[in-house]
Amino acid sequence: MKNHPKNRWQDSLAKTLDPVARLVYRSNLIGEDPTLTNTGGGNTSSKIMEKDPLTGSETEVLWVKGSGGDLRTAKRDGFSSLYMERLKGLQKNYLGSKAKGPKSQIEDDMVGAYAHCTFNLNPRPSSIDTPLHGFVPARHVDHTHPNAAISLAACGKGKELTKEIYGDEVIWTDWQRPGFDLGLILEKVCKDHPKAKGAIMGQHGLINWHEDDKKCYELTLELVGRAAEAIEKKDRGDKTFGGEKYKSPIEKERKALWLSILPWLRGKVSAQQRMIGTVQEDVTILRFVNSKDAPRLAEMGTSCPDHFLRTKIKPLYVPWDPATGDVAKLRSLLEEGLEAYRADYKKYYEKCKRKDSPAMRDPNPTVVLIPGLGMVAWGKSKSESRVTAEFYNCAVEVMRGAEALGGYINLPQQEAFDIEYWQLEEAKLKRMPAEQELARQVIAVVGAGSGIGKETAHRLAKEGASIVCVDLNEKSAQETSAELVKKLGDGIGVAGTGISGCGPAIGLGANIVDRKSVADMLGEAVYAYGGIDGVVVTAGIFVPPDLEGRIPDEKWAQTFAINVTGSYVVADEANKIFKAQGLPASLVLTTSVNAVVAKKGSLAYDTSKAAANHLVRELAIELSPLVRVNAVAPATVVQGSAMFPRDRVMASLAKYKIPFMEKEGDEELRTRLAEFYAKRTLTQSPITPADQAEAAFLLVSAKRFPRTTGQVIHVDGGLADGFLR
Ligand SMILES: [Zn+2]
Repeated sequence: MKNHPKNRWQDSLAKTLDPVARLVYRSNLIGEDPTLTNTGGGNTSSKIMEKDPLTGSETEVLWVKGSGGDLRTAKRDGFSSLYMERLKGLQKNYLGSKAKGPKSQIEDDMVGAYAHCTFNLNPRPSSIDTPLHGFVPARHVDHTHPNAAISLAACGKGKELTKEIYGDEVIWTDWQRPGFDLGLILEKVCKDHPKAKGAIMGQHGLINWHEDDKKCYELTLELVGRAAEAIEKKDRGDKTFGGEKYKSPIEKERKALWLSILPWLRGKVSAQQRMIGTVQEDVTILRFVNSKDAPRLAEMGTSCPDHFLRTKIKPLYVPWDPATGDVAKLRSLLEEGLEAYRADYKKYYEKCKRKDSPAMRDPNPTVVLIPGLGMVAWGKSKSESRVTAEFYNCAVEVMRGAEALGGYINLPQQEAFDIEYWQLEEAKLKRMPAEQELARQVIAVVGAGSGIGKETAHRLAKEGASIVCVDLNEKSAQETSAELVKKLGDGIGVAGTGISGCGPAIGLGANIVDRKSVADMLGEAVYAYGGIDGVVVTAGIFVPPDLEGRIPDEKWAQTFAINVTGSYVVADEANKIFKAQGLPASLVLTTSVNAVVAKKGSLAYDTSKAAANHLVRELAIELSPLVRVNAVAPATVVQGSAMFPRDRVMASLAKYKIPFMEKEGDEELRTRLAEFYAKRTLTQSPITPADQAEAAFLLVSAKRFPRTTGQVIHVDGGLADGFLR
């Protein structure tokens, strides 16, 4: 049956593992199954007998998924470990406090006390769900956020239905914010209902337990499966969400519509801070946004607490009729919708805030729903926006189930607020490391397949930018992007349609002398990330001359087409996106010191670079005040350069009368030439792609030279002939 979790437990594997590794294994199995839990949601535990390093005697230790982890990707170090005896001992402290219960100060103080229960110096901080696991007496506990179970938990008749579906095996508990008191409630459930195997936690999720770990996993599957079955039995088919109100345009038209609004919309939702987008337009989301009930349900917001931390209390839904295809109307609806959303958010904050609440956060929506098109989710990074999209996907599935079961209910606003603005959440945000310099920025590097471009892509990624690697050779662009993804990791969150499901880098092919090719490439980048903040062009061509120092006329034309017109076309097309976004942007071109040093044998190249130098100045004027335009002018970067093939290296060695042998390898010849060039410079050291990449980073970053535009920076080791005057 659809939405039924599959049992993937392998005894042959499990029996090779120690008890903690078995817990990690069980957690990963649960985390990998989207019908069982969402990214970052849920937690698992095992109570394991261990040798106490202090006394040498056996002691019971609770191993439980720690704070900030994710079941799918968790490893052993994602789990905290606590002396059971000490954790249980905290009950005396808690119960002795005058003020106690949900949202009391002692609840939050208990989180700090968990560190005092740590077994064996495990540095992983404990999560707020620790008492849920510690106070349920069974050896193994799974707490999950399955869409099917949350449908039950977020249904008006959830309590009755739980009884109907599970009898006395699963007990209903009313919504309560996670914390110490909720742990005590679960402890009481186990005491009062010794036969119970689990509980549906109102508007939150599922928790179940067993003495055996494999059986605990199987129980999770079974209980989720039973909820899913109950939903399927009442599935409303064509009448899901009240039935269809709008029809989606075909895929190609949908994409064109997305591209026509994404950069503009990104500019709007980035008014306080830049956001990166994830577009989702699969069948599930389209059915929802096109439905009759979407406006009502969207307004009610998401339910599961860790959903709305990212999705905000509700998404922005705009009542646009896709049959009109009227983009201007869509924009005006979005504009009005955004204004109303921000005002609503402010109202919600003012109404629910407490005297010690943190200041109001960004009032812009993180989820935007458009009939006919689907959803775009926004976050501070690609990974974050994918999680947000995933969570709203979950919310749609939860609403489908809850509506089928009798009617979806949302969490009261004050409860939502007390999660969103919880001091513990605020403390978590404050503990996060400062954002990197290029965080929230999408930068395209044109020429990223090799040499300076590849080095620049790596340099900018290191500063936190999302990188669009572009090259005439698409394969090499993809290789660079694969290197970056491998280095940085894919991040978390499972969502995004097509290329929009990407990680921190993508690789695309484009021919910069072909305007359509450039526009298509930038379109893909916009679809992947929602917009672009900077472009660095390192692509160029040097045609080696014949023995008389000449190149054919068509090669002259090609040299100018690539080195001058190509950069112009990229700048002109990127500027359309920059203008639509209305956010400050940066463009960095690559010229050459040869632009100002006349010499023999490279007429076409040198004059094209002189033109490129002036192109920088012209563009700086044309694109101001929004876009800064600057250039890096390298000289004689031999290492790893596609512009120094073996032939050219040998021609140059011959020109400078440097002895070499035919049989010598490419790198030996290149090193020889690089050393010769280095001797001609004032700093006497070879010039590397890393030197150029550093300059490109400084120029593209809005923080380093924010007042510099129209400039060409020489990175040449110091060539007196190249001094500008
Ligand atoms: Zn939970």
